[in-house]
Amino acid sequence: MAVSSLSIIEFFDAIPAAPIQYITHVNGVELCMLRADLNHPMIMGNKLYKLKYNLLQAAEPGCDGLVTFGGAFSNHLVAVAAAGDLFGFETWAFVRGDELVHKKLNPTLQFAKEHGMQLSFVTRAEYRNKASLLDVVDKKKYYVVPEGGTNALAVKGVGEMLHAACRDFDFIATAVGTGGTCAGLLAASDAHQKIIGVSVLKGATYLLEEMAQYASLDNLEFVQDYHFGGYGKFNKELIKFVQEFHSQHKVWLEPIYTGKMMYGVYEMLQESKFPSGSKVLVVHTGGLQVNQSIVYD
Ligand SMILES: *Cc1c(COP(=O)(O)O)cnc(C)c1O
Repeated sequence: MAVSSLSIIEFFDAIPAAPIQYITHVNGVELCMLRADLNHPMIMGNKLYKLKYNLLQAAEPGCDGLVTFGGAFSNHLVAVAAAGDLFGFETWAFVRGDELVHKKLNPTLQFAKEHGMQLSFVTRAEYRNKASLLDVVDKKKYYVVPEGGTNALAVKGVGEMLHAACRDFDFIATAVGTGGTCAGLLAASDAHQKIIGVSVLKGATYLLEEMAQYASLDNLEFVQDYHFGGYGKFNKELIKFVQEFHSQHKVWLEPIYTGKMMYGVYEMLQESKFPSGSKVLVVHTGGLQVNQSIVYD
């Protein structure tokens, strides 16, 4: 059955602008948070914006499937599975790690499966060579969403996260995974605004080249000091920070993306890296519903 692009447009039109929440003042700097995590319980945060124009593109006659890639804890897989279920796309994911075939599915993959996603577990070597994985996929039926959802259409969607009130801020900070979100903010922000991209992975300098495909990096400050050992790695100090942040501000972060970004921004505030009198907006990119179990179980 064909997917209706009208239902996709109606869904996105009904998503309210993300509220801006006051967090604190530190050393004369005001810190607020763009609560993009409140947009949808399952297609949460930046993943929703990244998917918007890809879903519309996918809803072409003859195409009723989405195929994508991800690791076992990928928020992107959750978002694609939920979106597919909601709009009527079949979904299929190549998952990194063939050893997972023999294991009980973790909450991320269990969620994806329950929402109808077909999971194909592949070796790390196969995963690196994504083009050949797609050899078996009928490209007329399946629209290919890249790993982490990043492409030009995703960057365009992310730009819509910034509404008029966001333009009052001098700095906008986000966690950086593949760089699509950061590029979207760079492309859509005003010339007076600086984007602080906090990498959650180690050795992320290559992402500058990726982001430069989509946006000018003139207003970017790329911060690489808060990866905590690499993607998916964290320590007790970060968990403590996330828990304290929740008890003070009643906002959950997670330790993979938003926790690292917020930890970094707090340290930068304490070290007076932002000029006194300036305003900083951090983006809550979501990522909560499954990764939360890592922290609180
Ligand atoms: C995927 C994700 C990111 C990273 O976004 P990129 O566009 O890949 O850089 C940041 N935060 C959360 C919560 C995510 O799920």
